[in-house]
Amino acid sequence: MRYIKEYLREERNQGWRVELRKSVKANERTDKVRVHMPEADPLIRNKNTEEVNKGLEIQQAVLEAGRCLDCANPTCIEGCPVGINIPKFVKQIELKDFNGAATTLKETNALPAVCGRVCPQEIQCEASCFYSVSLKKDPIAIGHLERFAADFERNNGNMSVPVLEKPNGIKIAVVGSGPAGLACAGDMAKFGYDVTVFEALHELGGVLKYGIPEFRLPNEIVDVEIDIMKKMGVKFRKNFIIGKTLTFNDMREQNFKAFFVGSGAGNPSFMNIPGENYNNIFSSNEYLTRVNLMNAANIDFDTPVISGKNVAVIGGGNTAMDSVRTAKRLGAERAMIIYRRSREEMPARVEEVKHAIEEEIEFMNLQSPVEYFADEKGRVNKIRVQKMDLGEPDASGRRRPIPIENSEFDIEVDTVIVSVGVSPNPLIPSVLPDLKISKWGTIVVNPETMQSSVEDIFAGGDIVRGGATVILAMGDGRMAAAGMHKYVSEKVKIN
Ligand code: FAD
Ligand code: SF4
Repeated sequence: MRYIKEYLREERNQGWRVELRKSVKANERTDKVRVHMPEADPLIRNKNTEEVNKGLEIQQAVLEAGRCLDCANPTCIEGCPVGINIPKFVKQIELKDFNGAATTLKETNALPAVCGRVCPQEIQCEASCFYSVSLKKDPIAIGHLERFAADFERNNGNMSVPVLEKPNGIKIAVVGSGPAGLACAGDMAKFGYDVTVFEALHELGGVLKYGIPEFRLPNEIVDVEIDIMKKMGVKFRKNFIIGKTLTFNDMREQNFKAFFVGSGAGNPSFMNIPGENYNNIFSSNEYLTRVNLMNAANIDFDTPVISGKNVAVIGGGNTAMDSVRTAKRLGAERAMIIYRRSREEMPARVEEVKHAIEEEIEFMNLQSPVEYFADEKGRVNKIRVQKMDLGEPDASGRRRPIPIENSEFDIEVDTVIVSVGVSPNPLIPSVLPDLKISKWGTIVVNPETMQSSVEDIFAGGDIVRGGATVILAMGDGRMAAAGMHKYVSEKVKIN
């Protein structure tokens, strides 16, 4: 019988590590295979909006948590951008203390049900798990366990309103209701502030609602979190564009003492190639927003989105996967990804690519559009595509795509969705001349406090980082709340 004693502690003195494993036969754990997340049938789900991942059953979650080796120096925590105490919550699941696990998660992550579903775990926490790093085996399914604990708490009606400090009556404005804004608003409410979130759209949640589709992140999960925040006293104003409906000076006059800008990076990029303005060529932002928020999948609605039969999505990120899988669900016979690098370089979560392949999405890697053509009514009907090779790594660390001469060929399409990147929303930077902006259009902040060059304005999420991730946006929101609390306590309360 093999023992991996060097990786296991003889004694545990932390209170939560109640189970001493003095002579755990580590191979009994490491020999177990990772528990598979149940999924909807790919050829049925690609025609509806039901959630693809079904969640672990209790026995499955306990079994998976039981694979954890209780490492003496756990490395997984370092892989999580917000430093969740992963060994602790996994142990709580193994001991069937599911609500305790949810409480542990919420110490550092306000939206565990969201992050458990959409974090790129394979390059974050799970990449740092001892199984991945040293044993070269499948890591503990940290994301799936996180989702399990958060869903257990929600489904059993155990979600509680956090304890708040005594109200101090000081007004704080949060611009944008995406993960950065929600995380900041939640923490400021806990500190006792009078928080109002202003959202430009008619729905709350930012990309969690207008971008990520229902089959990956059901809206209900985001709404439950927003309802808790309402119970905490956070006020929400929809259809409210800061910089247009009200300026920052208007809000200062209304006695708001500090601002958090979490306005995201919703400005789509295009490739600027000939024919890109033809009809039925969308940005992924427009396409997903229309389907997710404006009922555009419904043909009887005022502004239905085109349900193309031959749909090409240009790009290889999460947004591209969401767009192509949405097009498939809206009836595309041929839904394809055209991506200029190979599968290994795709920035999309590995699970999304796997799910897309199962759903009969076609992948045309190492290819890039060079021109679009249209019919007599100006509707796109053909893409000219050039084949690519991979050269040396570029600044992103990924191998640079190099066009292969005379390799062009044409593909018939009736819809194209361009998903080649986003840039920060320019409105707020444009109305605040004293706000320091980078050459990429992001707001420059002090990374310790998230304070901008305008002292009462803090910022975080995609407006600071460019297109990033949900968990990084939330981490920024929380850091900004701490910075803002310090600023307001020192400058405003005292004066
Ligand atoms: P957002 O979520 O963009 O929220 C900004 C909000 O501010 C919006 O609601 C906007 O309407 C509002 N706003 C803007 N300007 C104003 C104004 N002037 N006044 C009032 N309100 C304003 N990340 C992952 O980690 N995993 C994934 O699987 C993943 N998938 C993605 C799929 C898609 C389709 C997209 C687009 C992104 C995805 N991302 C994913 C990235 C992630 O969603 C973002 O990094 C994250 O949402 C950024 O959060 P945020 O709060 O900074 O901005
Ligand atoms: Fe992993 Fe994301 Fe959860 Fe952190 S928040 S433990 S990175 S899934």
